[in-house]
Amino acid sequence: DTTNASLMARRRAALPVGLGQSHEIFVDRAENAEVWDVEGRRLIDFAGGIAVLNTGHRHPALVKAVQEQLDRYTHTCFQVLAYEPYIEVAERLNAKAPGNFPKKSFLLTTGVEAVENAIKVARAYTKRSAVIAFGGGFHGRTMMGMALTGKVAPYKIGFGPFPAEVYHAKFPCALHGVSVEDAMASIEALFKYDVEASRVAAIIIEPVQGEGGFYVAPIEFVKALRALCDQHGILLIVDEVQTGAGRTGTWLACEQWFEQAGVAPDIITMAKSLAGGFPLSAVIGRAEVMDAAAPGGLGGTYAGSPLACAAALAVMDIFENEGLMARGREVGARLVSGLQDMASRHATIGDVRGLGAMVAIELFKNGDPHQPDADRVKRVVTEAAQRGLVLLSCGVYGNVIRILVPLTASDAVLDEGLTILSASFDATA
Ligand code: PMP
Repeated sequence: DTTNASLMARRRAALPVGLGQSHEIFVDRAENAEVWDVEGRRLIDFAGGIAVLNTGHRHPALVKAVQEQLDRYTHTCFQVLAYEPYIEVAERLNAKAPGNFPKKSFLLTTGVEAVENAIKVARAYTKRSAVIAFGGGFHGRTMMGMALTGKVAPYKIGFGPFPAEVYHAKFPCALHGVSVEDAMASIEALFKYDVEASRVAAIIIEPVQGEGGFYVAPIEFVKALRALCDQHGILLIVDEVQTGAGRTGTWLACEQWFEQAGVAPDIITMAKSLAGGFPLSAVIGRAEVMDAAAPGGLGGTYAGSPLACAAALAVMDIFENEGLMARGREVGARLVSGLQDMASRHATIGDVRGLGAMVAIELFKNGDPHQPDADRVKRVVTEAAQRGLVLLSCGVYGNVIRILVPLTASDAVLDEGLTILSASFDATA
């Protein structure tokens, strides 16, 4: 009969080792914030398929929308025979993006494809080649995605050479001793040592580093970046693949930049929770920038799949009709207070942080930020899975536990998850 172990054995025999797997668990079915594995065991899902399930597993309104779309057509290729749902997704994304200027959008399939296309558009518009990204940043697994990613192990090992003209600056992180001034100085150093500012097409940044450890970009840094970009004619690209679609308390994290400091990015990338479990990504930007690519230069066979567009429209409806943005902020606050309480009892938890419901804890040895405790993170994550809670780690040093639970999870399920996490700390002490 089918067990996690038997499937794991088949997986090992049939699939390459390069494909990671956080847990040796195989899913049978899932509903909102809960998953049942092939052995009938229930798990609480604090991972959300890596930030994809802000609206939960199989939200009824999303399932209905996709089923209705299934009954009409599933694929024509948008560049061959177009369809309205794609246009409606773009219109609604344009309307939700910050900035007092006209916007245009186009759709793709994966997050990294959106990132690739943001760079393509930025280069076409500026007629410049270089791109600056940040240490600890993650932008995907294609060649340009790897080039932009600021973490060697495990993402880049053995895969080079990467596309040229990508440079990395420091991401500000007070906890680890990198100030906003240090980070800005690292960009000025690039201009001095590596590339003249007039050859830089774009700076790409995550509003909250995701894989890198849930570090929030300080608003002072964002302001300084925008000013630097304006000074040199550089485009500011914000990669909202992980932060977007309501995770941080607003539809886009950069809405908070606009509210607090009047800063709007020139280009935004989205994916993950945008279509609630269906493969869809988007590039949203200043209309004049987006129109710079020549006809035929953008697109893809599956890009903007009708099924995924139907799902994305349902996701946006769910946020609007169910007050999910406000609920997301509540979820974030509940998690933070539960985690702060845990931190008061477990000295290894050196930091509790986040934006909205994008929440993480960072583990240190001896309460010292210079002694990241990746080993404890591994043990806690494994222990929690055995107790029925799915967690994900992240961080440049692998010492961060991040929470990406569906925003539709009930308080009871959130609290149950936090209780398991606390017990897992006790059990691994
Ligand atoms: N950018 C960011 C910020 C991400 O978090 C990710 C995925 N973790 C990507 C890009 C790549 O997305 P995908 O895996 O869908 O290509």
